[in-house]
Amino acid sequence: MTQLPLRAQLATALGRTAATLSRVTGRGDGSVIGGRVSLVLEPDLLRKLAHDRKLALVSATNGKTTTTRLITSALSELGDVATNAFGANMPAGHVSALSSAKHAPYGVLEVDEKYLPEVIDTTGAGVICLMNLSRDQMDRAGEIWLLAQKWRRALAGRNTHVIANADDPLVTWGASTAASVTWVSAGQPWKEDSWCCPQCGGPLDRKGMEYVPPGSMGSGAPSGAGENDWACRECTFRRPEPSWILDDDAVIDPRGQRWVLDIQLPGRANRANAAIALATAEVFGLPVERALPRLREVRSVAGRYTTVERDGRHARLLLAKNPAGWLEAFDVLDASLPVILSVNAQGPDGRDTSWLWDVDYRVLRGRPVFVTGERRLDLALRLDVADVPFQLANSFEQALAAQPSGKVDVIANYTAFQQIRSEFGRAV
Ligand SMILES: [Zn+2]
Repeated sequence: MTQLPLRAQLATALGRTAATLSRVTGRGDGSVIGGRVSLVLEPDLLRKLAHDRKLALVSATNGKTTTTRLITSALSELGDVATNAFGANMPAGHVSALSSAKHAPYGVLEVDEKYLPEVIDTTGAGVICLMNLSRDQMDRAGEIWLLAQKWRRALAGRNTHVIANADDPLVTWGASTAASVTWVSAGQPWKEDSWCCPQCGGPLDRKGMEYVPPGSMGSGAPSGAGENDWACRECTFRRPEPSWILDDDAVIDPRGQRWVLDIQLPGRANRANAAIALATAEVFGLPVERALPRLREVRSVAGRYTTVERDGRHARLLLAKNPAGWLEAFDVLDASLPVILSVNAQGPDGRDTSWLWDVDYRVLRGRPVFVTGERRLDLALRLDVADVPFQLANSFEQALAAQPSGKVDVIANYTAFQQIRSEFGRAV
């Protein structure tokens, strides 16, 4: 790598000092404050730090931290990788990530969906991964459509390679102005934000869900496309042919070879993340046989899926921040175990909890359910309407103490998750 200009070097050094001070005084991991200090001194620092590196940006509503981690793990097979491992996914976090690994030839950056156009522009990243778009907190379909439109503009006319989930119509639309795209069939369990064609507003037909008149044969959808196929009924916009396919517990690569994933991270969503990571690794020249063993080494990501223990009770922590995330978390639950649900409504969670009504909780029937968090009464009302029996607890500690010894699953939204992690100390 070429040497940074003096001003950029100074900005980097002072930023790292600020980050260290923040860490030692217990104010967090310091990556955001360090990046901010650096950017004040040298506003063009991110572009300079990104220059000369092989960069991948990762964006989505859900799964970006995990996918960033999986791609980083894979690319470490090729050399040093700079990454924002702790989810500081705006430009200050990117500056911090790149300046703390100044000589790493590779970089994998998680990017907030709204900042993606700016970060594409600044870093000139050659590879961009786009996985899913759905309502988050108080967003609604119109807002994520605007977001996808901004992605389209940011990608148009650039020499960028995109790896995108072809099963998500809005992501497909957002990615399709890119010069080249690797389409991955990574699935889309949450469909509530994509019943309309992003191109023309017409209805989207989905395989197995479209109206078929009695007595007629076939559905018009192409054969062999599987349950994830979709097509607009009124214009030509339809799902592109994927070259990578997530097929239950395996990935089928572009040559038709089937690779059983066998990763440690649980659930369908993480297998989808792994499929995207393998397709991305191949763009960097890393074949599946070398990338996949690296993905299997990842056990937990920023505390997710780890277990905290107290008095013989082992609580596995699942983070879910929005309706699509809750759906994916339900998929990970062990049906034989009780579950504790914790919901807060602080700034990072969104103050309004009306999104709780978008989630179908009936899957929780038949197991012991405990409800806690600052907004436990909001969730309790929702469960009551869904006929899901539950018990209220005043705190997570109380909910955990009510369990028999052994395992319990926990689903918590952002600040509830962080509270549990900090109160229960280091994960085991
Ligand atoms: Zn259409």
